[in-house]
This record gives sequence, structure tokens and C-alpha cells, in this order.
Amino acid sequence: MPINVTVFGENIHERENPLVAEIYPIGMHGCIAAALNRDSELRANAVTQDQPEHGLTEQVLERTDVLTWWGHVGNGLVDDRIVERVHKRVLEGMGLIVLHSGHGSKIFKRLMGTGCDLTWRIADERERVWVCNPGHAIAQGIGATNFTIDREEMYGEPFGIPNPEEVVFLSWFQGGEVFRSGVTYRRGAGKIFYFRPGHETYPTYHHPIVQRVLTNAVHWARPEGRFPLGCAHVPVEQATERFVVDEVPAR
Ligand code: ZN
Repeated sequence: MPINVTVFGENIHERENPLVAEIYPIGMHGCIAAALNRDSELRANAVTQDQPEHGLTEQVLERTDVLTWWGHVGNGLVDDRIVERVHKRVLEGMGLIVLHSGHGSKIFKRLMGTGCDLTWRIADERERVWVCNPGHAIAQGIGATNFTIDREEMYGEPFGIPNPEEVVFLSWFQGGEVFRSGVTYRRGAGKIFYFRPGHETYPTYHHPIVQRVLTNAVHWARPEGRFPLGCAHVPVEQATERFVVDEVPAR
């Protein structure tokens, strides 16, 4: 069975900034979807925020195993009803991969329950991404203790997230800052991975190791089962074991 991936992109910088359009002629979402589709087990489709329901209709989310999310200037413009819909699907078991400035998205903040704030600087810095857990499924195939992205935006600690379940990557920047750049969570039955690299004015999503991490992350986040939401009442007649209800004094 293929893993169905929906790649959400806000698609604003790509349309408004010629530099971004030059780096990503088919959008960051298009670049990410194409990279994922090179894995024969994945079926990735890109959707954008300007589509009806942001491209995230009930039907699309119903058949999505893993959703990836890149948002920035449009974070606050995402319809709360869609956030609710994505949140529900994550609790049911859909995987979610939140990318870069998606740390400020409504869905990530909702799932984390914290501000998810951080420090930042855009100064063409080198980013060295350290593998903290070489045994983790998301870190497979990197083949080294760390990898380098020649130019990136800096994100620094403190990062206002709850303590992660796992820290897979830690980034160091030329200016000296460090950042927990690859962290995992579970919410309900859904697995969540936040991955830091991916500022729009740099070709980060063309980087082969970044693409490898995203592919690994999709495999890791695929649903293992579906959790039924809602509190179902089980009347005595439908109880698994037969039993006699004791006489209860009237209250
Ligand atoms: Zn950025």
C-alpha cells in the first residue's frame, strides 16, 4: 500500500518574491512533493492555501496518511475550521510534518499548547545539523555525524515547545546559536515531526540530505492505526461480560 502524502504550501513568497520563484519555479510545495515522489512507496500531492478550503477538504484529509506543512506570512490567515479538521485527523492517527516557519502555524501551536517562539536572523549563515540519535528512523541514510547547509536563516534557542519525545537533530549556526531542529511528538494516535531547515530564499529543499530526512520522516509518521474519537456510551446489554446489576438505592 502506498503512503498518501499531502504537501501543504502557503504559496505566497513564491508568487510575490522573484528570488523565491527562481529557486522554486514549481513552489516549495512542488519541490517537496517531487522529492517525496522519487520514493516508489510514496504518493505525494501538493495543495496550496489559496485553494478552496486551503486544498484540505474532508475528502483530501480522509485519504491523507501524512500531511506536511509549510507556512509563514499566511500562518494567521488559515481558516480555524481547517485547523480543527487537521487537528482531529492528527488525533485519529494522521502523521504531521511541520516545516521551518510552520513553527508559528495555528495547527502546530494548537498541538503543542505553547507559543513555539524562537529567535531568528537572516544573514546567509552556515547551518550544521547534528544527528542526535543515529538509531532513529528519521536519521537513516545520512551517513555522517552531521550535515551542512551552506546558507540558511538562523533559528536559535530558546524554542518555546514542550519537551520533545525525541530530539533527532540539533543545529549549530555560524553566529554561535543552537536549536533543536528535529523533534518528535505524539498527539492522540498521530505522530508529529518538526524539522527546522527551509527558509524560502535558500535552496534548502533541493538539498539531497534534507530530501532524505523528509522522506524518512514520512515513512516514520505513517499511521499505525486509527483512534476513534468521541466518548461512546456502552449500555449494560452491550457489555463484553454478562453481569447482574446490583440493586442501587434511589438517590
Ligand atoms: Zn524563514
